[in-house]
Amino acid sequence: MSYFTELEKEIHAYLDDEQCEQIALAFKVARDAHHGQKRRTGEAYITHPVAAALTLAQLRLDHQSIIATLLHDTLEDTLITKEELRDQFGDEVAELVDGVSKLTQMEFENRAHAQAENFRKMVLAMVRDIRVIIVKLADRLHNMQTLGVMPREKKRRIARETLDIYAPIANRIGIHRFYVELEDLGFAALYPMRFRILEDAVKKARGNRKEIMNVIESGIQAALEPLELESCKVLGRQKHLYSIYKKMKSKQASFSEIMDVYAFRVVVDSPDNCYRALGAVHGCYKPLPERFKDYIAIPKANGYQSLHTTLFGPYGVPIEVQIRTREMDKVAEHGIAAHWSYKMSEQDIMLNESHMRARQWIKDLLEMQQSSSSSLEFIETVKIDLFPDEVYVFTPKGHILELPRGATSVDFAYTVHSDIGNSCIAAKIDRRLAPLSMPLSNGQTVEIITAPGASPNPAWLNFVVTGRARSNIRHYLKSQRQAESVSLGKRLLNNALTQFNSGIEQLSAQVIDQITAALGVRSFDALCEAIGLGNQVALVVAKQLLNPMGDHPAVSPPGQDEENPLAIKGTEGMVVKYAECCRPIPGDPIVGCLTAGRGIVVHTDQCPRVVGFRNKPERFIYMTWQDNIEGNFKVDIGVHVLNQVGVLAQLAGAIADAAGNIDDISVNPCDGNYHIVSITLTVRNRIHLARIMRRLRTIKTVLKFYRVRAE
Ligand code: MN
Repeated sequence: MSYFTELEKEIHAYLDDEQCEQIALAFKVARDAHHGQKRRTGEAYITHPVAAALTLAQLRLDHQSIIATLLHDTLEDTLITKEELRDQFGDEVAELVDGVSKLTQMEFENRAHAQAENFRKMVLAMVRDIRVIIVKLADRLHNMQTLGVMPREKKRRIARETLDIYAPIANRIGIHRFYVELEDLGFAALYPMRFRILEDAVKKARGNRKEIMNVIESGIQAALEPLELESCKVLGRQKHLYSIYKKMKSKQASFSEIMDVYAFRVVVDSPDNCYRALGAVHGCYKPLPERFKDYIAIPKANGYQSLHTTLFGPYGVPIEVQIRTREMDKVAEHGIAAHWSYKMSEQDIMLNESHMRARQWIKDLLEMQQSSSSSLEFIETVKIDLFPDEVYVFTPKGHILELPRGATSVDFAYTVHSDIGNSCIAAKIDRRLAPLSMPLSNGQTVEIITAPGASPNPAWLNFVVTGRARSNIRHYLKSQRQAESVSLGKRLLNNALTQFNSGIEQLSAQVIDQITAALGVRSFDALCEAIGLGNQVALVVAKQLLNPMGDHPAVSPPGQDEENPLAIKGTEGMVVKYAECCRPIPGDPIVGCLTAGRGIVVHTDQCPRVVGFRNKPERFIYMTWQDNIEGNFKVDIGVHVLNQVGVLAQLAGAIADAAGNIDDISVNPCDGNYHIVSITLTVRNRIHLARIMRRLRTIKTVLKFYRVRAE
């Protein structure tokens, strides 16, 4: 008997003769190429690609996928070349095999970085042709089925990789059968003891449940009978072991809590009848409120459609029921693979919901990887995406958006459009203003309020959960920071040039080119950016620009002088920071310290932290405030108050009267008589602070007050 017999039978059931012939040819090519090679199990190597191809034939995949599966290890392990494959089987097959080989070379080990980099490549391969991943999953499934003979360490690595990467992908693209099997095989290989114990427990529990399952099943059957549905199947469902294990771990639920749920599936012929069947079962057993989900009207991300409801069964047991059509059932089991079966016309593929959504997902991945700054960031993002737990919310116009659990209004805004996210300033949830950081729940209507010129807040990164929001915010901040650095760098450079009685305008393009080339930066803007970030020193660059040959003594270096300080506007943004130690406010005499990569940190000129910088002219900058600075600045004050009822309210009232804002407040009892209150205020400038201080002086219980600065 040939290795090919079973596969041959399977493909003849759905492919035409010409396609079957090509598959037979591929089998021969693969068999000859792998001739003499053996698997660890001792079997001929060819059994592996044939077994993988058989699972895909059972899913009714197109002939190209089957051919590629048969040949999937030939590029890697035999002398066959991609060109030979192209000549014999065409471009698509050659590309598929090539894509799968590349995935095979990737090892998703724990070394996070290598893994992330590989994952990017995997996504790229998937984007080109999603069948690459389907073939790879079939390959992995058979490897998992025959894992037994591997050395223990290797087994664990492969099992973990399967649970971390391949099973979630199978789930994400909806190939339920692969998903369940990959998870249980991975679970068994990684935790053999836990697997066996759980397996035994489940067997026992299922035996005990048999009788009650039968009672419920006939109950549902009887309820559906009056509908006279043409073809209607009622099936008992069982959860796979790894999903029980995960549930016990994540929800801290006991084994019996999970096993005490009775699950059924009703499969009917049309969507209409799904709803009729729903009515019938609700008439039979009372539904539990708030447990009903309509995934027919709102399909899941992987295209899954079904009605879900939980009923209150006999003896008080909960019954979970899924109701769906046969087509929906097929999509639920085969996911995206359902749409590669050869009979689908191009148009069907285009129209198909689950296929479209899988495509969209991959497109999103690609976009994300383009805007992520590192591979690690990308994989973090994708992980969230691969383990979805969705909430559904509405736009004001009633469109449905699907977001991962924990998503906030900011995630919502970025899902609608990156421009909406970038200019978002507030959100209304169910018509009420709500904090942007509030996690959304199912069914809420979210309205985003935008303002022209608004920009994303770095603090949003602390609470957004979608990759799209995260990468958009990071991207925006990066480019904004860049623009700000360039503009600050220009001012610093100009300032330095003025000391030599020159200026940026007076420099010739030729000199600029010469110096940027010498310093190894792309452009004049890049040079200014480096200065703004503190990676280049303005004074040094200025000297080089004025003296490009550098072969005669430099213009005497005056250092930056006090007469010519750099004026700050307060709107520099991220490249100018105000020191937390001394908290300068407009009106305070100030100086700046340049820190490599971080721009300027502004201190008050009395701040002890500045001392070390004073003798480093390249790092130390005399600064001044421009007139009419807009904005709010933080300042710390200490107030000694008598220990009396209502004194804090008096303080707060006085500060509010003077239009000050309390950012933070803490009270330290000193002795029984008085307390020291530390307050962080936001004020506009010194005059504003003085006004607040004057108000405090009018309070009788205030003994003394002072501005707090770092020691
Ligand atoms: Mn293989």
